[in-house]
Amino acid sequence: MLYIVLVLVLAALGLLVTALITASSLWAWVSIGLSVLAGLILVADWLRRRRRAAAPPARPAEPVVPAEEPVEEEQTTLIPAAGDLGDPADTPEPAVAEEADASAETETKADSEPGVEETPEADVAVLADLEDEVVVVDEHPRYHLRTCAWLGPRDLIPIGVGEARQLGFTPCATCTPDATLVAAHR
Ligand SMILES: [Zn+2]
Repeated sequence: MLYIVLVLVLAALGLLVTALITASSLWAWVSIGLSVLAGLILVADWLRRRRRAAAPPARPAEPVVPAEEPVEEEQTTLIPAAGDLGDPADTPEPAVAEEADASAETETKADSEPGVEETPEADVAVLADLEDEVVVVDEHPRYHLRTCAWLGPRDLIPIGVGEARQLGFTPCATCTPDATLVAAHR
């Protein structure tokens, strides 16, 4: 539709030039006619769009896929972000590029993971049997104490500390859940 308008406007412009060169008012009148036609098409097009926007077409019902739902739920529940499953010593946190501009840096900081708490071997053995509650956030590799400042308004998933470790979650260096829970246990 807009393509037709463009052609009409170009034709009108061409005719206007012709009228100026040949000093014939006939071409000028034809040019005006084409311009008016282009304007009418634009108005008609605008009215049509507005009517369509006012009455959105009814949406077809979403297809239901019950077979896949339980699988997906299981997948999204408690899996730490990939790459952090192994020994924390083997997978160092990627260093944030120093030359990143200020806004990008604040954005990264707001969403970046806290460091991994260093837990002594003796404590790891104790923690494996503990059922004290820690919290995890979906798709994040650390587990935390509820009081952790990093958590903010995120959706928390409570879980036993032993189970969290078993699933591959690592302790947050900000709230040090391992040291706190081991100390409380002793
Ligand atoms: Zn924490």
